[in-house]
Amino acid sequence: MVTSMIEFKNVSYRYDEEGPWVLDDVSFQISASEWVAIIGHNGSGKSTIAKLINGLILPHQGQIIVNSIPVNEDTIWDVRRTVGMVFQNPENQFVGTTVRDDVAFGLENRGIPREEMIKRIDESLATVAMKDYMMHEPHRLSGGQKQRVAIAGVLAISPETMILDEATAMLDPKGRNEIMTTIHNLRQQGNISLVSITHDLNEVTHADKVIVLNQGKIWMETSPREVFAKRDRLLEIGLDTPFIAQLASELSSQGVNISKQPLNHEELLEELWTLHSTM
Ligand code: ADP
Repeated sequence: MVTSMIEFKNVSYRYDEEGPWVLDDVSFQISASEWVAIIGHNGSGKSTIAKLINGLILPHQGQIIVNSIPVNEDTIWDVRRTVGMVFQNPENQFVGTTVRDDVAFGLENRGIPREEMIKRIDESLATVAMKDYMMHEPHRLSGGQKQRVAIAGVLAISPETMILDEATAMLDPKGRNEIMTTIHNLRQQGNISLVSITHDLNEVTHADKVIVLNQGKIWMETSPREVFAKRDRLLEIGLDTPFIAQLASELSSQGVNISKQPLNHEELLEELWTLHSTM
């Protein structure tokens, strides 16, 4: 049975009692082990969703359930134990003087025994391919490496869900790739629910599901392939599809019959090759 890890039921939120609704009647479910990408232009309400999931703010209307716990003032600490967060700025996330100490910090706070701590630090740094950097100083690492250490710090505390809130936004293309590979690997291991929040459609390609937000409402909830096929409608709300989807749409408008929306250049090549061999 597919169990729901995060559930939003008709959630509305505004920062100011007199102000506009920042989230307006938002409902969705995220299953255990699923990777869901939440996408939308700046100000569409993505970070507000992240803050609601881990109880930093509470909804004015509707209900949020995380790992079977209804989120409210009495449960926020239980909820936070099950949700790990990685934020935009890698600089702000370090407390240790070495990578190892940094990952250890969250574990020490939870009173995990030493033997178990060493095992978890080793495993989580191996998962993000940073084990060789254990004794390095975090502030000397590249942006992508810093974010991988931040991810390891979250993994070490074994949360059921990890939220990456614009975790690639400050990285160069290499760093961004490193994080996307890390998320992809975590997804393959399949024992954590992943919520990646981004304004960049290139980052949703491998997600199981994409939630597109616009002005505080769910505008579309579907597969990456379906999202990429809606280029014209996405442009209307200030989002653009990745290059491959643009190319496919351009070819279609020139009369090339692309039958399946490609997710990457291999799929587009395959599509063109099939067309070529049937001509
Ligand atoms: P996104 O993450 O998609 O950029 P946010 O959830 O941060 O969007 O913001 C949604 C809306 O809420 C925006 O209009 C933003 O200005 C407003 N907002 C966000 N944080 C606050 C805050 N702390 N106080 C008042 N308004 C806020």
